[in-house]
Amino acid sequence: MQTKIAVFLDQNGTLFDESNGEYAPVTSESFFPGTIQTLQKIQRAGVLLFIVTNQSSVGLGRIEKEFALRFNDDIRSVLADAGITIQETFSCMHTKAENCSCRKPQPYFLKLASEKYGLSLADSFVIGDHPHDVELADNAGATGLYVLTGHGTKHRGELTKPYFVFQMVSDALEYIYKTRIFYESV
Ligand SMILES: [Zn+2]
Repeated sequence: MQTKIAVFLDQNGTLFDESNGEYAPVTSESFFPGTIQTLQKIQRAGVLLFIVTNQSSVGLGRIEKEFALRFNDDIRSVLADAGITIQETFSCMHTKAENCSCRKPQPYFLKLASEKYGLSLADSFVIGDHPHDVELADNAGATGLYVLTGHGTKHRGELTKPYFVFQMVSDALEYIYKTRIFYESV
């Protein structure tokens, strides 16, 4: 039986502010308030953490693949310095026009992670600032939590059905902790 719970986090605009520019260097100061603390808390509760990101800038030729991979590594290592383990970063570098199977909201990476790590997707969550993040959750049978950081406010009107909406990722993680983890442990 698959019982492990995971949180799949969108990367840019969900974990950290991009106001210094897309792909600007990320330090522990770049993360939205409370992100590090709530990730630590949810990890201590046994939740596995993943990042799922669409990086079509690569497919569009705006940045090199190696640059994107190094950027993703940097994010993981800044989090690792705070004791947070991102199991894997799943990155789709294709353009929309390529019609690949891994671009969000396609559930490809979540299914892959589910098999590899023994996850219960029905008990897992996706957090992101784009409609495709919460639609990804729907397509994988998980729960989508929408945040208003990054492009969240701009795209909120494009949500096609009601979703849980939070100011930022720390609020969404607190919600998971309170509803999912707390009730299980009492
Ligand atoms: Zn892809």
